Amino acid sequence: MATRNRPLQPLDLEQYTCGRTIGTGSYGRVCIIKHKTTQQYFALKCMIKSEIVRLKQVDHIHSEVKLLSTVSHPLIVNMAGLAQDPVYVYIMMEYVQGGELFTHLRTCKRFENAQTQFYAAQVTLMLEYLHSMEIAYRDLKPENILIDAQGYLKLTDFGFAKKVDGRTYTLCGTPEYLAPEILLRKGHCKAVDWWGLGILMYEMLVGVDPFAHESPMGVYQNIIKGNVRFPANMHKDAKSLIKHLLTADLDRRYGNLANGVNDIKSHAWFNGVDWAGLLSKSVEAPYVPVVRG
Ligand code: ADP
Ligand code: MG
Repeated sequence: MATRNRPLQPLDLEQYTCGRTIGTGSYGRVCIIKHKTTQQYFALKCMIKSEIVRLKQVDHIHSEVKLLSTVSHPLIVNMAGLAQDPVYVYIMMEYVQGGELFTHLRTCKRFENAQTQFYAAQVTLMLEYLHSMEIAYRDLKPENILIDAQGYLKLTDFGFAKKVDGRTYTLCGTPEYLAPEILLRKGHCKAVDWWGLGILMYEMLVGVDPFAHESPMGVYQNIIKGNVRFPANMHKDAKSLIKHLLTADLDRRYGNLANGVNDIKSHAWFNGVDWAGLLSKSVEAPYVPVVRG
């Protein structure tokens, strides 16, 4: 797929009026801004430089800007400009109006199979695209997935995204002597995203995280033990795909095998998904947000 690599417009914040805050992040906030003449809305992520430095996130912000400005995909937020002043770094993006998938999920408690399939298939397409660009996203969660005015998803927040080092894939040595895991493994960095898809699918269907616990330590222990309890009424195909994704062994985790994303896309749980229709947004969305003004 095409990379964008177009120069970003120099962003003159004087031309915009600042509206309400729509999200708070680790180093600042995201607010709506409106262009004074065109009346067009954007989202502006404002990050406090001193906080970025204090939290040792300078490299992360550089790669967030760099990666976000190179990707171009219907299911990923489009970056529109970049600016800074002595206090802040600003990233301007298209404004996604329907809020976080997180909020919608908490409101609904859980989603039906069809709605989960609609969202999980789109996340699969986003990850397929990012991985084809050698980008591991690494922060998949419903807070970073937004719902657009049509009810389709948009991925935001490239704060942890990483360009995967090409060397990881260079096969060196005599071909006959290479171990199968070297040949099959597509790079462990990207595989974390497929694990993330498994968590997300579970959370959408059940309403809670598969490894939930009151304390972070308890969560880690649950992850290491790896025992996921599935509700008795969960669709057997959903359970099967989630198990293939929440596989600790990288050499058996779906998405990370020789067939890559195709093992996931052709899994029984995705039967009937119109992948091209999702990309062209011609499939009817199960939920369309009410968008004000
Ligand atoms: P952080 O890196 O601090 O997590 P995010 O980039 O995730 O910051 O932004 C914080 C929140 O702001 C998101 O969870 C979301 O609610 C909101 N947000 C981010 N980008 C947009 C956007 N383009 N349109 C609408 N809301 C957004
Ligand atoms: Mg975030």
